[in-house]
Amino acid sequence: MSALCLENVSHNFGTLAAVNNVNLAIDAGEFVCLLGPSGCGKTTILRLAAGLEPLQAGKITMGKTVVANDKADLPPEKRSVGLVFQDYALFPHLDVSKNIEFGLKHLSAQERKARVLETLEQVGMVDYLHSYPHTLSGGQQQRVALARAIAPRPKLVLLDEPFSGLDVRLRNQVREETLRVLKENNIATLMVTHDPEEAMFMGDRVAIMNKGQIVQFAPPNELYSDPENAFVAHFFGEVNEFKGICNDGHVATPFGALEVPNLRHGTAVDVLVRHEGIVLGEKVNGTGVEASVLKSRMLGKSNLVDFKISNELADDLYVKARLDSHTIPVVGNACVLELDKRLTFVFSAKTPD
Ligand code: ATP
Repeated sequence: MSALCLENVSHNFGTLAAVNNVNLAIDAGEFVCLLGPSGCGKTTILRLAAGLEPLQAGKITMGKTVVANDKADLPPEKRSVGLVFQDYALFPHLDVSKNIEFGLKHLSAQERKARVLETLEQVGMVDYLHSYPHTLSGGQQQRVALARAIAPRPKLVLLDEPFSGLDVRLRNQVREETLRVLKENNIATLMVTHDPEEAMFMGDRVAIMNKGQIVQFAPPNELYSDPENAFVAHFFGEVNEFKGICNDGHVATPFGALEVPNLRHGTAVDVLVRHEGIVLGEKVNGTGVEASVLKSRMLGKSNLVDFKISNELADDLYVKARLDSHTIPVVGNACVLELDKRLTFVFSAKTPD
């Protein structure tokens, strides 16, 4: 049984189809990320699941309970869902303990006190029981917001870009802590993010959205190594792109011919190669081509290198490669580049929208 299940959910704002026939099921205890460009409908899905937006079409179920369909629409407080938004939304006039107690009115005073302490213990904030939100750092406020969301012991938590207000170092730490707390409590989570790295880091599965629809829903490694289309390949990593035409099961690229057995003769194709899919080779044969080094940037864990390829198949083609940080090609030198076929994808060329 799914902790959250959306079936054929659509939502319009006037003539705009913000969410267009979305199907999504999240397992108990699973962490799912909704990832996509600005305006693709991520927050609207979260608001529909929370009951903050009335459902127009489809069905939403949590466990065995239908929370919204054409006959019913349970209000947010009846859905047993924890919410954490980008701005933490703590009550400024209540201290940490009162902020968390707010969602525990169904418990006795004694139970409430015990639950507040237990939850603050989990997020490492027990010492701040009587602090007011404005006296806490962003990371501390985020932890309190998480504690408030999980204190009523919901089966599902909805997070909307909860880490975007934190600086990079703190963000990584708070991400790990959040993940640990949610997993320890076996809480299913749907988190909105527009950051592919964050989605890869946190998601058991990631739903990639574009224009109100889910384009692919899969674990991060699958999205990375087996994207369903060019949009996913672009969104979930960095790619070089070449154009080509399918000719008798092959497409000519600046790196030589690639096999495309599933595409019809004459089909226009986009060839996408991840930056990590261009590697230094030994000699020019197969997909090995000569290239000159234009620019090299050391980025800590990798080296981003710009190359120029000029051969009979490509006239001044510029490509980017992500090499390991110990490989620092000298600008102006010639190298041999090869394709890693596992990180090379061929799709029918996208038709203009
Ligand atoms: P972002 O990453 O920028 O937050 P998003 O993917 O979360 O974007 P939504 O906030 O769900 O996108 O919005 C989807 C579309 O619906 C956008 O085009 C947005 O302008 C529109 N929209 C959202 N809320 C409303 C509203 N209350 N009234 C009218 N249009 C809205």
